[in-house]
Amino acid sequence: MFSQVVPWRRFTNQCLKCSRSVLIRNASSSSSSGEQQYDLVVIGSGPGGYVAAIKAAQLGLKTACVEKNATYGGTCLNVGCIPSKAMLHNSHLYHMATHGELKKRGIEVEGVSLNLPVFLKQKEDAVKGLTGGVAYLFKSNKVTGIRGYGSVSGPGQVTVKKEDGSNETLKTKNILLAVGSEVTPFPGIEIDEETVVSSTGALSLKQVPKKMVLIGAGVIGLELGSVWSRLGADVTCVEFLPHIGGMGIDMEVSKAFQKVLTKQGLKFKLETKVTGAEKTNGGITVSVEGAKGGNSESLNCDTLLVCIGRRPYTKDLGLESVGIQLDKRGRIEVDKNFQTACKGVYAIGDCIQGPMLAHKAEDEGIICVESIASGHEPHIDYNCVPSVIYTFPEVSWVGKAEEQLKQEGIKYKVGRFPMAANSRAKTINEPEGFVKVLSDAKTDRILGVHMINSVAGELINEAALAMEYGASCEDVARVCHAHPVCYQTFLIPFSSH
Ligand SMILES: Cc1cc2nc3c(=O)[nH]c(=O)nc-3n(C[C@H](O)[C@H](O)[C@H](O)COP(=O)(O)OP(=O)(O)OC[C@H]3O[C@@H](n4cnc5c(N)ncnc54)[C@H](O)[C@@H]3O)c2cc1C
Repeated sequence: MFSQVVPWRRFTNQCLKCSRSVLIRNASSSSSSGEQQYDLVVIGSGPGGYVAAIKAAQLGLKTACVEKNATYGGTCLNVGCIPSKAMLHNSHLYHMATHGELKKRGIEVEGVSLNLPVFLKQKEDAVKGLTGGVAYLFKSNKVTGIRGYGSVSGPGQVTVKKEDGSNETLKTKNILLAVGSEVTPFPGIEIDEETVVSSTGALSLKQVPKKMVLIGAGVIGLELGSVWSRLGADVTCVEFLPHIGGMGIDMEVSKAFQKVLTKQGLKFKLETKVTGAEKTNGGITVSVEGAKGGNSESLNCDTLLVCIGRRPYTKDLGLESVGIQLDKRGRIEVDKNFQTACKGVYAIGDCIQGPMLAHKAEDEGIICVESIASGHEPHIDYNCVPSVIYTFPEVSWVGKAEEQLKQEGIKYKVGRFPMAANSRAKTINEPEGFVKVLSDAKTDRILGVHMINSVAGELINEAALAMEYGASCEDVARVCHAHPVCYQTFLIPFSSH
């Protein structure tokens, strides 16, 4: 079936799901002096840290996870993926009800209005449920959760500064740094999380802004800009790059995406840089000019959303004490085993290189602890890590973009299919967008899949699976899929070139 059979990508002869078969080398529980001794102490409980801690405990390692915040789950569960997706979903429903989308389907609703406190509460309930779920998983998997600020205080030693000012020292064979990232500040613009907000403040605005200026039309900015635009804000996105959607997006998709968002009411100022922002009596004045200089102007708004990216959070971690280096971008340097310059100290997730994504952090966490437990070398193919923008329609991609293939001189074929011609998309009246498949001109192997449509966030995972297995387009096209599904749009470009 598959053009190239890859039995398993992480261990040459073992399956991630069958972790019981992984040989435990390091398991121990207490030192000869009776002092609490761990096999692994994880610092940080984001998707990288908590998943790694649970996996390690399942593999038989005595594990503790140190978290400085009041709840587990890190950026993702508390102020990232989860709350933003709750708000994206509900604002989409509101937009459908208020912009004739329901009426077109024969559903007439009168007097639709927004109850912002309830809207925000649903998001908070989702966050509470999921962060509480991590605490439950720790308990049921026998991971010791420790609340406090963790730092490496020597080889095999973590010091936890507790809220009451006391310190606890943990002795451990291995340390995993899963400390994640924080919002990158914009020089000269002070975030107050009320009118000048980062992504965190944008998840809890007390009222819908009349005018919002958004600095940065990347993934997070466009998702949050979409939320507030759908709820009624007039949103202008200022972006330094000549395109929207951030790095890695295929330019054909980016252009189509900008068109759709513009139709929805978002405004874009591309190749434009913000030079400053000032609070005035009437709100906030944002000064902008061309990315290469020239043409300056002022934009007025009542809410300024700063979304220019995230940077690793490695503050007061004690890295210097054990000789661990940061690279030029402040990321912890690791080798192919995720090990730092200090033996027995590992790092994963947003604080190391690679895409800042929750599923990338999770995968790294799992393979890192499996490797600690088994001694096998971990393996992850970053080319097969999918990216999704959860706007409406959604945008997603995996593998290389057409521009990248051209740059690398790789000969490729392109297959495209519009959603407008897909039976399921037509049935549910979501005809916007297309799927684009890039494959090797000679071998037919899939090199990249890029799409914009209402279910792109789900659809892309089949492409990621196919690419992980080194599938050709024909392999995918020959799999029998149910009908009618949006997946069929995905299959046609595979079979048509
Ligand atoms: C608004 C928004 C939306 C996003 N949406 C998505 C999405 O849809 N999909 C996606 O894949 N990604 C998304 N992301 C990115 C995703 O949240 C991150 O890539 C992911 O959380 C990284 O996981 P991590 O475990 O590396 O770090 P984090 O989630 O940042 O967790 C690190 C944890 O370590 C703790 N910590 C740090 N230092 C210490 C210390 N010294 N002692 C104790 N604890 C410490 C922190 O408090 C934190 O809890 C989004 C991000 C944002 C901001």
